[in-house]
Amino acid sequence: MRVDPKRIRERMVRDQLEARGVDDPAVLSAMREIPRHVFVEEALASKAYSDCPLPIGERQTISQPYVVGVMTQTLAVQPDMKVLEIGTGSGYQTTVLAHMGADVYTVERIKSLFFAARQRFLDMRLFSVRCKLDDGTMGWPEEAPFDRILVTAGGPEVPEPLVGQLAEGGRLVIPVGTDRGRQTLVLVEKINGEAHRSDLGEVRFVDLVGRHGW
Ligand code: SAH
Repeated sequence: MRVDPKRIRERMVRDQLEARGVDDPAVLSAMREIPRHVFVEEALASKAYSDCPLPIGERQTISQPYVVGVMTQTLAVQPDMKVLEIGTGSGYQTTVLAHMGADVYTVERIKSLFFAARQRFLDMRLFSVRCKLDDGTMGWPEEAPFDRILVTAGGPEVPEPLVGQLAEGGRLVIPVGTDRGRQTLVLVEKINGEAHRSDLGEVRFVDLVGRHGW
């Protein structure tokens, strides 16, 4: 890249995040620091900071920066929290969570994406990330409960195992919708053992495929 990526990131954070109401300092700082262009193939590197999702192979996408910002802010991550992410994809969202000090457990179902993301975590020396190749709609029962759960693919319903693996006081953020490719962003909070759901607006994600997905 000819232009200093740090300057481009600062502009991305200002124009795409802050201007639209993302104001969690930890989210903004993570997205200012993390080199998003290493999460896409080289031919797309110049578009990595554009206001749109980009293909990452296997017909999957890395989410638009604004969507990553909103989802991460909604999750309200604090340092040392145990966070489960479903849909590792490129590993960009995972890296944002790890940068915020979370212990991240991330699950991906497509082999080539899983291995590419795992290599990126090693290259970045992100040792707080644990990766699993599996159907993430089943969660990660051996490591439950989780303080936070983030699903970055859209399914027809909130997978019941994920609600079960959410800690008391925990938050789960997931796109849900019975129209494929169009969902509502849903926040589930567990309070006194009960799951409370709020709907946060329309989003567009690739399919959550699996036992409790499509
Ligand atoms: N967070 C990613 C976005 C990836 S797109 C990023 O920052 O790049 C969504 C990803 O979810 C895809 O890689 C897709 O393969 C994965 N996925 C879909 N269903 C899944 C499932 N049941 N378990 C794990 N991963 C799943």
